[in-house]
Amino acid sequence: MVQKMPVLFIGHGSPMNAIEKNEFSSSWERLAGIIPRPRAILCISAHWLKEGSAVTAMARPKTIHDFYGFPAKLYKARYPAKGSLSLAKEIKRSVKTVNVDLDHEWGLDHGTWSVLRNMYPKADIPVVQLSLDYQLSLDKVFRIGKELGKLRKKGILIIGSGNLVHNLMVMREGKPYSWAVEFDNIVKNNLARKDYGSMINYTKYPSSASAHPTNDHYIPLIYVIGAALGEKPKFFNEKIVYGSVSMRCAVFGI
Ligand code: ZN
Repeated sequence: MVQKMPVLFIGHGSPMNAIEKNEFSSSWERLAGIIPRPRAILCISAHWLKEGSAVTAMARPKTIHDFYGFPAKLYKARYPAKGSLSLAKEIKRSVKTVNVDLDHEWGLDHGTWSVLRNMYPKADIPVVQLSLDYQLSLDKVFRIGKELGKLRKKGILIIGSGNLVHNLMVMREGKPYSWAVEFDNIVKNNLARKDYGSMINYTKYPSSASAHPTNDHYIPLIYVIGAALGEKPKFFNEKIVYGSVSMRCAVFGI
């Protein structure tokens, strides 16, 4: 009997969280100790945006250092988790809304490994990533999320990794922008109310334009709410850093 796994939305923030012990990375570590140990992990990261949906299918996904200007020790960090061709095929079978290609090129980008390095430092659980298709409507993304939700009963931990407010162009020291606080609260309330329609149509909120100049860090949330359909979230890391990046995380199903 496999326990039904929770679903996580993780606000990943700076790549430095991969190697720094701080309030955010420590919470991720603690979370892994609370939830059941997964058979495998499916991570939907903000940092794999492409045309079409694909799932990593290689035996040994490489650690991708998809960032610039950070200290050398971050570029030396690796996350040597195995992939899982069988899970990749299972995802392909489970998703009916779109075709999912089996990918042999990508690997694990920092949206995935900066979080998992804290949650599962031994890297002894297989990990696959699902791409974000920039042409897909969020309605379809939500449907795919629902289809993926069925994997939870098979011991698969689904993680959406992005940020609920993400504007790198205006980062500053000091207090959060008012639009950042506002949009973070809007999403928090819509999550608590299970108002899926408003989360899919999030551009109706004026603060969304500043909160997400591009939507890559928001899209993972829509997969997550599909997979967690009907469940109420618990929040942690409820903080906005650099004025414009929400570190809020949500866990469903615990
Ligand atoms: Zn990011």
